[in-house]
Amino acid sequence: MVTPQQLIQRQDDAAYLLTRAGLRIVWTNEAFDRFSAANDGGTSLSRRVRGQSILSFVPRPLKRFYAELYNTVARARRPYRHDYRCSSRSQRRWFAQYILPEGSYVAILNVLAATQPHENMGFRSDWSTYVGGDGTALQCPHCRRMAEASTGVWSLFPECFEPDAGAPPTQPVLCPECEWYFTAPCLIGRASTSFLSSHLAFQPAALRTVR
Ligand SMILES: [Zn+2]
Repeated sequence: MVTPQQLIQRQDDAAYLLTRAGLRIVWTNEAFDRFSAANDGGTSLSRRVRGQSILSFVPRPLKRFYAELYNTVARARRPYRHDYRCSSRSQRRWFAQYILPEGSYVAILNVLAATQPHENMGFRSDWSTYVGGDGTALQCPHCRRMAEASTGVWSLFPECFEPDAGAPPTQPVLCPECEWYFTAPCLIGRASTSFLSSHLAFQPAALRTVR
């Protein structure tokens, strides 16, 4: 019998356990520290996040989606898979997130599903073209594109991942493409209707492989 702690420790990518009530982070794996260090989160991130609700780390426009997703799994004790984008400056990356009921916990396993170098990344215009009347620039928290204030055109350039010293403050707003991805009724509905009847059969065998 694989314990929830062993399950997440065996994952190559970031994984963590949440309490079913309150969705508080109680356990993270080594890959979580490696991932956060590689993405400028620092190696002490796991100590700082434990005990806190995972929703406090979710960008505002995505809180409702993830709250519904995780709470649905916690209540129904059925698994769900959700794919999301988490690119770096050099790579376009899609992850599959498995949300699994594991005893008194909800386990979150993030598995790298697809990656390729960025192609045709654009060039940044002067920062002033992205700043709106409130002094901030809009950035999508999912694809990380930023919107030009005057045209509303969303584009991706290297500074979307590593802002330089002159970058304006940003506020997270979903771009139209990601807004559709996270809020389309067919997807929200799927979060509560696409459960399979067997927990174990739903999971790729690799997630539980003993190393
Ligand atoms: Zn987007």
